[in-house]
Amino acid sequence: MPIHYKCRHCETEIGQLPLDSIDEQFLQKNNITPEEQDLYIVHGVEGDYTVQCICEECQSSLQKFPNYYALKKWIQ
Ligand SMILES: [Zn+2]
Repeated sequence: MPIHYKCRHCETEIGQLPLDSIDEQFLQKNNITPEEQDLYIVHGVEGDYTVQCICEECQSSLQKFPNYYALKKWIQ
């Protein structure tokens, strides 16, 4: 099962990783803490994983309008 990368703001699929599971190495490589793992990694019903990250477009918007995104995230 590939690991899907999706933007948590606009839901765009950024990419996929052909991994069987999320292991320590993956977490370390991506600087994902255990807290972030709970927040951002969704374990799907078919045994797949979705990592909710941020796409380049949202990243640049976030840098331009940090308050807007902070608010939007808070409302969700
Ligand atoms: Zn996005």
